[in-house]
Amino acid sequence: MTKEDKQKIAVFLDIASERLSSGYHIGEKEYLFTDDESKEGGDSADTIEQIAQEVRICRNCQLWEKRTNAVPGEGVLQPLVLVIGEGPGEDEDRQGRPFVGRAGQLLDKMLDAIGLSRKTNCFIANVVKCRPPFNRDPYPEETASCAHYLHRQIALLKPKFILVVGRVAAQSLLKTTESIGKIRGKFTELEIGDMKIPLIATYHPAALLRNEEYKRPAWEDLKLLHSKF
Ligand code: URA
Ligand code: SF4
Repeated sequence: MTKEDKQKIAVFLDIASERLSSGYHIGEKEYLFTDDESKEGGDSADTIEQIAQEVRICRNCQLWEKRTNAVPGEGVLQPLVLVIGEGPGEDEDRQGRPFVGRAGQLLDKMLDAIGLSRKTNCFIANVVKCRPPFNRDPYPEETASCAHYLHRQIALLKPKFILVVGRVAAQSLLKTTESIGKIRGKFTELEIGDMKIPLIATYHPAALLRNEEYKRPAWEDLKLLHSKF
């Protein structure tokens, strides 16, 4: 309801009550109303912090049982790039923050090389927000239970680009079983609601730490991403 509508009702009530008690009288009153928040789109009151609070207490899949801390994600609220990983590891589970272990430090260096940082122009999130025990791949039902959080994050953050790291996250987001070797190296579009966001996938920084061979193609992917902004 708009403040004008409220004003009219208030004046009407005022007149009505005056009429009923001491006769007809239009008071010289000031009504300091504000518009109600728009409910258009249903989820318009959603915020990144609201999502984080829900994630921290979520029990929608079995991963909650063994977690120390859920990891909602972190970064700036209107990111140039949203980085999406697989799920928290041991260090992330302990700290409740994404990509803070060895792989995370490498990720930060890779991002820095193309002018990106979670402090200035990136947001970093994961496909599942709780650590799979022994760092196993998340099961499809776990990814499915968690997906709405990431979707809401994407809808709010409206990133210009999405960088997906690792096979598991790439396959889950793109709904494919293709190898990461096939998926990487090119842009695709991720459709979320009525948004189409350019997405590029590359090797996970943990894979780069295990296997030098992946460094060159990962660097090619980062350069391709960088060429778009
Ligand atoms: N690996 C991931 O995929 N995500 C993290 O947050 C940390 C390590
Ligand atoms: Fe909830 Fe996602 Fe954690 Fe499962 S992984 S408990 S769905 S936040």
